[in-house]
Amino acid sequence: MQAITITITRPEEMNRELSLQVNLAVHLNQPYRHIVPACRSVDPGLAACTNLTSSLGASKVAVSPLDLRYIASREDYWNALQSEYQPSCIVYPASAQDVSLALQAIRAFGSRFAVKAGGHNTNNFFSSVDSGVLIDIGSMNAKSYDPSTTLATYEPGSTYGELYDYYAQFDRTILGPTLAGVGTGAGLGGGLGYLSPQYGMACDDFRELEVVLPSGEVVDASAESYPDLFFGLRGGGGNAYGIVTRYTVQSRPATQFAAGNVIYLFEQTDAVASAIRDFMQYNPDPKASIVATYMKLPTPGLGLNLDEAILLFLVYDGLDPGDVFGNFTSIPYLLNTMAIRTYPEVINMPIPFLTQLTRGDNTFRVGVHRVNDDSYQTTIHQWRDWAETHKSSYELLSFNFEPVPRSLTDASNSQNGGNAIQMPDGPWFWISYILETLPGLPQAEYEAIQASFRDMVEASGNADGLPLFISDASADQNPLSTFSTFARLQEIKNTYDPDNFFAEKTGGWSFT
Ligand SMILES: Cc1cc2nc3c(=O)[nH]c(=O)nc-3n(C[C@H](O)[C@H](O)[C@H](O)COP(=O)(O)OP(=O)(O)OC[C@H]3O[C@@H](n4cnc5c(N)ncnc54)[C@H](O)[C@@H]3O)c2cc1C
Repeated sequence: MQAITITITRPEEMNRELSLQVNLAVHLNQPYRHIVPACRSVDPGLAACTNLTSSLGASKVAVSPLDLRYIASREDYWNALQSEYQPSCIVYPASAQDVSLALQAIRAFGSRFAVKAGGHNTNNFFSSVDSGVLIDIGSMNAKSYDPSTTLATYEPGSTYGELYDYYAQFDRTILGPTLAGVGTGAGLGGGLGYLSPQYGMACDDFRELEVVLPSGEVVDASAESYPDLFFGLRGGGGNAYGIVTRYTVQSRPATQFAAGNVIYLFEQTDAVASAIRDFMQYNPDPKASIVATYMKLPTPGLGLNLDEAILLFLVYDGLDPGDVFGNFTSIPYLLNTMAIRTYPEVINMPIPFLTQLTRGDNTFRVGVHRVNDDSYQTTIHQWRDWAETHKSSYELLSFNFEPVPRSLTDASNSQNGGNAIQMPDGPWFWISYILETLPGLPQAEYEAIQASFRDMVEASGNADGLPLFISDASADQNPLSTFSTFARLQEIKNTYDPDNFFAEKTGGWSFT
């Protein structure tokens, strides 16, 4: 194919002329990469935005930072630091075709870009962009349920909380994370939730994905069609192989749950940690699920540990958990809110403290450990020592046990040949560490505290042969390289992004 060369001498004409040429190329079904702008002085982000305003229409593109849609999208990051970046425009696609047009324009103008779903990933430029095009897929939020197949189909713009609410009317749910505000990007990173011990990770339930490839082509990926792409997207992360514009997943029954929070004072640290370890190792009932959060505030403990608390989430799929949580409820606690709840109520269980975790200067790190050594104890103590000696540097700290029982890895590996994480046999566990730094820290101080926090997490030592959870990882932890499937994922990346368009123009996990 001949390259279309445009020679324009006046930069102010550049955007308009190039837009016309790009629109012509789309009309003639020519790939954009053959359009070679002869003038490079123009801002690529602005040029792509001008083009997209004309091709998609102003109703789908917010260019002004004062536009209310622009403000809402830019504000809506769980790590408030991501809101500091200023996209050249924000695109609100309504269909896979709109996403395809956006990608093609971004490619043609050499702009940077980012794809944003729920905005909960805390890493720089994973779903944020400075001077480039932000594709906010939040307005693609259609959803449906087919009772004859029990399959759920949804677009990527809803939060998981909205999806759980919607599927509850059918007494069903879909697998996903444990908090309502998290977006559908979580499933692409695996997706660990309360039903995972029974059914596996959220991505194990994927059946078909509509994907806009980096080339702009729209394909349906499943076990039969584009199986390598389907494999990569099941736990291998978002914004690497394409943009998912529709999910079809196996739904699961969900009616009534015995669930609640149990809160302890920190003096029970060791007793609760032992109970968690025993639960991870010996719990025989996959309907029982726990998440354990240790929290630390920067306020003084006054010798009474008033700055610390342990918050357990205990969830049983059914009305009668029997004695399955007995090891936890036999430890003296402050509060126990166990009750019968629907699944949306489980997800929205009252969570003291956690509201403070929204929209702070939040970052994540992850560790992975085996159950049959003492790392379940030593990691907490290392974290707690660090918390004591860095009181002036954080707003809130949390340390979260995320158990991966054998039933989970069996369920995961029994579907579609396992996911991109290829989870080794459980039990083992991830720890997610969340650091919320004080707002407005000077850059040097911010970097120093992040480096110290990183060193503390690294010092706790990860177990060899176990994968890091990408959804909880910091970008510098390079989690994909811990997957046994890394070489295969690199191949898939090369197949679908052969000219490194995504690799160079948007943030995301490293494939090197
Ligand atoms: C408070 C909190 C609680 C959490 N709880 C859980 C939990 O219980 N279980 C769990 O597994 N994880 C959990 N996570 C981690 C969560 O899975 C990740 O942060 C995930 O990346 C968030 O997805 P998102 O859509 O909200 O974020 P975004 O930042 O919008 O997206 C995350 C990444 O995926 C990409 N992406 C999103 N959608 C698409 C798409 N359609 N196509 C291609 N790429 C896409 C984005 O570009 C970005 O790189 C939690 C995170 C937070 C902050």
